Amino acid sequence: MYMATYECPKCKMSANITCGKCNAPLKDASLKLDNGQKVQICECPNGHGKIKSPLCCGQDMSCSIS
Ligand SMILES: [Zn+2]
Ligand SMILES: [Zn+2]
Repeated sequence: MYMATYECPKCKMSANITCGKCNAPLKDASLKLDNGQKVQICECPNGHGKIKSPLCCGQDMSCSIS
């Protein structure tokens, strides 16, 4: 069992994010847009969907799996 813990590199705020439907910790993933830009997302390991990574202090929070 792992938890996806997001931490803001600036203020060190951290958050654990879980799926609203099955309560599973979301896993870190990335999505490539048509314009070539890469976006960090989190997705439910059971296929309930994806959300964009949380923002804090104007930047993407980084994810570490523990
Ligand atoms: Zn922050
Ligand atoms: Zn789910």
